[in-house]
Amino acid sequence: MASPLLINVAELLRRAGSVREVGRRIDAEVFSFDDPRIAADAQVEVGLTLEALTDGIVVHGRLGADWVAECRRCLRQLSGRSEIEVQELYQAVVSDPDAYPIVGEQLDLLEMVRENLLLAVPSAPLCKSDCPGLCPQCGADLQTTRCGCSNKAGDDRWAVLDQLKIDQSRPTAE
Ligand SMILES: [Zn+2]
Ligand SMILES: [Zn+2]
Repeated sequence: MASPLLINVAELLRRAGSVREVGRRIDAEVFSFDDPRIAADAQVEVGLTLEALTDGIVVHGRLGADWVAECRRCLRQLSGRSEIEVQELYQAVVSDPDAYPIVGEQLDLLEMVRENLLLAVPSAPLCKSDCPGLCPQCGADLQTTRCGCSNKAGDDRWAVLDQLKIDQSRPTAE
């Protein structure tokens, strides 16, 4: 299947300084993200400006995508939208190691958009900055439940102190 973000840049290449706008809304499945954070039916938004330089085409603008993920502490289902600014270079003769290729007067924005969005969606989000997470002993969601395990841990700490006191108060032999 042809990339929906394959852009003919013959015009741009002819005249440095010329500009072209690309605005699209595309189903995420087109990008084959292969990442559970970006659902196949999520919408990817592309709002880019292509600007011809003497040695390439600079592409800048905004990308956006919806994501889903779990809170890394309590596993609550989270969703959100990442919006990022990008600036990338395309070259017919690639001299910049970070540049993407222009092939036969066409450039494909697909891989560039894909890479940037994968970096933009959160990898280990929190539902809130002070999420208390799950009880390591019983698995209870500590945001909504008081499971009592932490009290027991407290008791254990006191038991250690009690034991110390007992040892210290014990009369030494001899
Ligand atoms: Zn959480
Ligand atoms: Zn617990």
